[in-house]
Amino acid sequence: MNLHEYQGKEILNSFGVRIQRGIVASTPEEAVAAAKQLTDETGTSWYVVKAQVHAGGRGKGGGVKLAKNLDEVKAISDEIIGMRLVTPQTSAEGKLVNQVLIAEDVYYPGESKTEEFYVSVLLNRATGKNMVMYSPEGGMDIEEVAEKTPELIFTEEIDPATGILPFQARKIAFNLGLSGVAFKEMSKFVMALATAYEKSDAAMFEINPVLKTSDDKILAVDAKVSLDENALFRHKDFAELRDVREEHPTEVEAKEAGLNYVALDGNVGCMVNGAGLAMGTMDLIKQAGGDPANFLDVGGTADAKRVETAFRIILKDPKVKAILVNIFGGIVRCDRVAQGVVDAYKNMGDSINVPIIVRLQGTNAVEAKELIDAQDGLDVISATEFQEAAEKVQEVLA
Ligand code: GDP
Ligand code: MN
Repeated sequence: MNLHEYQGKEILNSFGVRIQRGIVASTPEEAVAAAKQLTDETGTSWYVVKAQVHAGGRGKGGGVKLAKNLDEVKAISDEIIGMRLVTPQTSAEGKLVNQVLIAEDVYYPGESKTEEFYVSVLLNRATGKNMVMYSPEGGMDIEEVAEKTPELIFTEEIDPATGILPFQARKIAFNLGLSGVAFKEMSKFVMALATAYEKSDAAMFEINPVLKTSDDKILAVDAKVSLDENALFRHKDFAELRDVREEHPTEVEAKEAGLNYVALDGNVGCMVNGAGLAMGTMDLIKQAGGDPANFLDVGGTADAKRVETAFRIILKDPKVKAILVNIFGGIVRCDRVAQGVVDAYKNMGDSINVPIIVRLQGTNAVEAKELIDAQDGLDVISATEFQEAAEKVQEVLA
């Protein structure tokens, strides 16, 4: 579950990680009130207005702007709230901005003494241990740093038995080229960050940039936080941090219906059972020259009702020009699934306006194929082999 920057920063702050302070606002008026409160609390007279959307690269897309007085706070907030922010990490349509974070300005203009670093905590899937990943090249696109200068990215693995140890935090501060007060501050920052990550059962904490101010304070300017959904039962207070406005509406609807649906960019709808088969199906569609529009896993019980719900969800995407049903009948019998497909089709009448290719393998596959082939007037095509199914999809699209 992804969080907004302001929510991530609240969690960091509660664990003693120093942050660039800020207050969230939904209207330009609230933004001005937030700026005034921020001045009372921190003494700042310049502010940064930051779009709150679940996507990085907001600065590049015009979603992070400096305001030098309250009038500018109002004007910039007015411009950013309600805009569709397009960043290198969003689709071409961008993301609707519902809120802005009004933050204190922490860069001291005219002085070149500020420095930006990259620090994240995440799971190293190869070793099964958490690690701190860090780089002196902060503030910029870390993927680009990884590609062009991989030697500038360091990792420090955390032993699950001990948690992060102070010597490791000092090593990180040293490798980041710090000394004196900033060195001590960075060590403290890293210790608190790794502890916050662990205690909140996070999946990722990415702080880019971590800032060294001109007076040697170390603080989190940005926070990209993702929590482990499977651990939310341990953190009842985190559940309310979910912002469904940030999620794909069809994905939310599918989740409510107990279906696992992921929207993609192509034109072939995929209905499968099991995530592994979903991966295989997408690969085969690609290999045959097609492009999957989604990934929909109906799970073990592919009865008429579920199949119908699945069709409805897939057909919400106007890009879908054909649907491939690829189901393995292990626990579920193929003829039952075939009947489900036919019943769902008949139930939905005209709302199915694209051809459906059905490939069923497993128990009673032969009966299932006969059932499909016996249908008159339905645009349903049967296939036995995986490859054959993918090719038939291409034929109907051609
Ligand atoms: P991102 O673009 O989504 O990663 O958003 P960030 O929170 O990282 O902000 C983007 C950029 O805005 C940063 O890399 C900084 O260069 C700039 N920025 C953020 N906070 C401040 C600030 O307090 N003062 C100034 N002058 N620039 C800031
Ligand atoms: Mn950032």
